[in-house]
Amino acid sequence: MCIHHLARAHNHRPRFEPPPTKGGSTAGDSRIPGIGNGGYDAKHYDANIVVDAKGALDATSVMTAVATQPLEQLNLDFVGFDIEAVKVNGAKAEYKREDGELIIKPSKALGKGEKFQVSVDYNGDPKPFPSKHAPVALGWNKFPGGSYVVSEPDGTRSWLPVNDHPTDKAAYSFHITVPKPLVAAANGKLTGIEENDNSRTYHFDAKDEMASYLSTVHVGDYVRSDSVSPNGIPIRNYFPPDILKEAEHDFGRVPEMMGFFADKFGPYPFEVYGNIVMDANLGGAAALETQTLPLYDRGMVTGDRRTERVLVHELAHHWFGNSVSPGDWKDIWLNEGLASYSEALWIEHDQGVEARDRYLARAEKIVKRYGSKNPIGEPAPDGLFDSKIYQGGALAVHALRKEVGDETFFDILRSYGAEHRDSTATTADLIAISTEKAGKDMQPFFNEWIYSSELPEVPLDNPWVRGSIFLTEADAPPIEPSKEAYHDFREL
Ligand SMILES: [Zn+2]
Repeated sequence: MCIHHLARAHNHRPRFEPPPTKGGSTAGDSRIPGIGNGGYDAKHYDANIVVDAKGALDATSVMTAVATQPLEQLNLDFVGFDIEAVKVNGAKAEYKREDGELIIKPSKALGKGEKFQVSVDYNGDPKPFPSKHAPVALGWNKFPGGSYVVSEPDGTRSWLPVNDHPTDKAAYSFHITVPKPLVAAANGKLTGIEENDNSRTYHFDAKDEMASYLSTVHVGDYVRSDSVSPNGIPIRNYFPPDILKEAEHDFGRVPEMMGFFADKFGPYPFEVYGNIVMDANLGGAAALETQTLPLYDRGMVTGDRRTERVLVHELAHHWFGNSVSPGDWKDIWLNEGLASYSEALWIEHDQGVEARDRYLARAEKIVKRYGSKNPIGEPAPDGLFDSKIYQGGALAVHALRKEVGDETFFDILRSYGAEHRDSTATTADLIAISTEKAGKDMQPFFNEWIYSSELPEVPLDNPWVRGSIFLTEADAPPIEPSKEAYHDFREL
C-alpha cells in the first residue's frame, strides 16, 4: 500500500531515474507513516561519534544489514547534519536527501539475501528535534556541561542514520569521544575507555536487539555507581556528583525491584541494567526507558524516594516495551499500560492491596479528567502519550487480571514476554495469548476495554477508596519542559 503510494511520489524526483528495484521508504506505521524503510533487515549499527568542546558532532555510522530483496536503491531515516560521504560496501554511493529520507544508490546493486554495509560520514551541531508525537524535544539535546539523547518515538533519525521503526531491531555499538574530563554513557556494556591527548573514547556494546527509539548517548560530568541484581545482572548507574548520595538512596531498591519483576514476568531480558540521572532539568518529571540505561531528569532525585514508582515504571518497560516492542505505534498502550500497571504491582507488594487500589482509583480519576476520547487501542497520532494510554492502559490490565485470575494473568504476561522476546507484538497478539491461556474468547473483553471510548468501572477490592482520592496539580499530564533545558553546551 505504502510502497505503491511512494513509487508514485518518486516519479518527479529529478536527480536519478527511479530504479526498478528499490527498498520501501516506510515501515507502514499507522500513526507515524514516514518512519522506517523496507527492503533490508538491519543487524548492527556501529556509531563512532566525536563530540567537540562546543558539543558539535563529527560522526561515522556503519549499518550492517541483509537485503530482503534485490536493491538498486535503499533508504535510511536521517535528518540534519552535513553529510561528507555515503559508502556501500566501501564504495562511494550516490545519495540524496528528501523529507527525512536518506536515499542511497549503491554503485553495485545488492542481491536478495546479501549482507552489506552502509557507512555515513556526517558532522555538525546537533539540533533538538521537535516531534508532533512527543511532549518533549527529541534527539541529541545539549545542556550546560553536556548532552543527552531522548528519541521516543521518532527522534533517533535526528542524530543517527537508522531504520527508525521498532519492527527492525538491531544490535548497537557506540564509540563516543568526549573532551576531558567529561564522561560518556550509552546503552549496553562499557567495553573499554581509550585515553587520547585531550579526550577519552568510551566504547559500548549493546548486543541485545534494540528498537532505534531506545538508543541513547549521554555526555557530562557523571560518577558511576555499581551494584548487582539478585539474579546476577550487573547494574551500573550514572549520577551527577553533587547529588550522588541522594541518588544512591533513591535508586537503592532497584536490585530488589529487579528480583520482584523477574519473579512476576520471567527473567530480566538483557545482559546489563542501570540508570542515568541526567545533569539537566527537563521540568522535574522526565524519564525514558532507554534500553539497559533508563534516563531521568535530575529533578527526579529527591533523597526520600518520593519518585520511586517512576524507577519501577522504567524498569518494567524492559519486559514490556523494550524486549517486546510495539509492532505499530498505535499499540503503545502495550508499553505504557503494562509499565504503569507494574507500578500498581510494586505498590501492592510494598504497601498492600488498599494502597494499590488507591493508585488505581487515582488513575481512574486522571483518565476521566485528562484522558482523550479515543479508545486506548486507537490513539490519535499526537495522543500517543495521553493519560488514556498510561492510566487507562493500567486500568485495562487490572481488569484483565480480575477477569482471568492471578495465576492465568501472570501466565499470560510471562508467555507474552517469552513469545515476543527481542521482537514486537500487537494488541492482536495479546488477545490471542489471553484467549489461549484463559480458555475462552477474550476478544469481547478487549473490545470493551481497549476499543471503546468509555472505560468500564475498574473492579477494586476496596471500592470505598474512590471517595478518598482528590487530584492535585501533580496528577496533571506532563507539559512542555522548560526551554532552559536547551542552553548551549558550556565550553570547557
Ligand atoms: Zn512509560
